[in-house]
Amino acid sequence: MRNEELEYLKTECLKCTKCALSETRNNVVFSDGSCNAPILLIGEAPGAEEDATGIPFVGRAGKLLNQFLEQAGINRPDDIYICNTVKCRPPDNRVPTPAEKAACMNYLLEQIKIVNPKVIILCGATAMQTFIGKKEKISQIRGKWLKILDNRDAMVIFHPSYLLRNHSVEEGSPRWLTLRDLKIVSSEK
Ligand code: URA
Ligand code: SF4
Repeated sequence: MRNEELEYLKTECLKCTKCALSETRNNVVFSDGSCNAPILLIGEAPGAEEDATGIPFVGRAGKLLNQFLEQAGINRPDDIYICNTVKCRPPDNRVPTPAEKAACMNYLLEQIKIVNPKVIILCGATAMQTFIGKKEKISQIRGKWLKILDNRDAMVIFHPSYLLRNHSVEEGSPRWLTLRDLKIVSSEK
């Protein structure tokens, strides 16, 4: 049932021309992972490799995310459904505009409704700002349980692109904190 509903939504999304990103995309990047997953992760937007393959988080950031998920005991095919705030790649990997996010929001809200995960991970500033006030600082808000939408449990984590630029794994470093955050999420699944 869930799968059929998502397939229908995906079919609609693959034809979508609601914003200008449709003009430059190669592929719509709808989702990856299981529709029965207890965890739903929202990233920012597809990059070059995602645009080429139609699969979210397959480039460098995605590979780093995979390592973190594995270390936290989250199995990518079964435990997590992955999508982004916009389904088409912004040119030059720029941040999606508020208008683009608004045009694409309904797909994301439907994905959340259909998958109905136990917890949502907001990965990076763009996903955070989509659901939580713009003034929040990711470093202050990450790692805590928050309520979004209709009383859904969510946690903000650093984006793996940020972690690619921050290599330290020392206690308190962004990588160390991210592993800690993901282990907390993992314990809820
Ligand atoms: N970064 C994102 O936020 N999403 C992807 O799918 C890939 C990289
Ligand atoms: Fe449609 Fe979203 Fe792609 Fe814009 S980014 S064309 S709203 S699917």
